[in-house]
Amino acid sequence: MMRMTNEPAEEIQTCALCGFSWATLTRAEIATRMNAAVESYVGVIRRAGHEVGSRPDPQRWSTLEYGGHLRDVLLSIRERIVLAAILDVPVGTPIFRDERVEIGFYAQDEASDVAVELQVATYLFLKTVATLPARFEDRRLVYSNRTPLEITISGAMSNALHECEHHLGDATENLRLLESREP
Ligand SMILES: [Zn+2]
Repeated sequence: MMRMTNEPAEEIQTCALCGFSWATLTRAEIATRMNAAVESYVGVIRRAGHEVGSRPDPQRWSTLEYGGHLRDVLLSIRERIVLAAILDVPVGTPIFRDERVEIGFYAQDEASDVAVELQVATYLFLKTVATLPARFEDRRLVYSNRTPLEITISGAMSNALHECEHHLGDATENLRLLESREP
């Protein structure tokens, strides 16, 4: 399924789906691109209108669900970065992305709320990135016990940017699929 294919992986240098490259990214570049991607995502939420909660097909999430997922991913990776700054090679908590949707944690997500929450999550993430001492960038963590990949804090920052750009692609594709269904 589309949403299952963007596992973070340092060894893979390019995402086969969205073309994201894990080549060395500066913190300034991460901030600029993340702000741009999230701003675009908020634009897609607005453009989607009453279709924002629709799944174009059963294998995809709605634009609201991808947005709620992205919000939670940013908060989760932020916590993993803080943990790795303090502890040696901690194991991050998995986000359980599908379970969050299936249990219904996103059931009350409204478009206007998710737009603001995405902006706040991005702001919080980038503030943490900006204030992390440079010497901490190479500290390591295990992403989670579900994704037992050991990465650096720097890699985790890049993964967060990938999530933003990748899911912007998902939301944009949703918009295209839904608009092509209009009579
Ligand atoms: Zn991707």
